[in-house]
Amino acid sequence: MKKTDPNCLFCRIIRKEIPSDVVYEDDNILAFNDINPQAPIHILVIPKDHISGINEVEEADKDTICHILAIIRNIAQEKGLDKSGYRVVINSGRDAGQAVQHLHFHLLGGRALQWPPG
Ligand code: 5GP
Ligand code: ZN
Repeated sequence: MKKTDPNCLFCRIIRKEIPSDVVYEDDNILAFNDINPQAPIHILVIPKDHISGINEVEEADKDTICHILAIIRNIAQEKGLDKSGYRVVINSGRDAGQAVQHLHFHLLGGRALQWPPG
């Protein structure tokens, strides 16, 4: 049984109650285009289990997290970002501006990204 939160925006996207532009999907993971892209390629990759954020990741989630990283690598390759470069971001908490309390990895690429981030 997947952990789910009836009121969570991303759980609702997983349940297809809210439409999204899906890039990749399997039993455990969903990847979809960000609705407000900050780069030419801006994809959100999320576990189908409701995990509120990086602080709530548990030992039992390690296969899922590893799988997410492999999928990010694959998507980056498909988009040609492995050649040009890309960034993977997890915002956590207030200072990072985490807006959605469901763990998500931002995959950003397609332009030169500044460092340090704002
Ligand atoms: P956070 O600030 O929590 O790290 O990132 C949340 C991300 O979710 C933002 O980049 C925002 O644009 C995206 N987002 C918020 N609501 C929706 C939505 O309904 N659909 C999609 N595809 N992305 C969303
Ligand atoms: Zn959720």
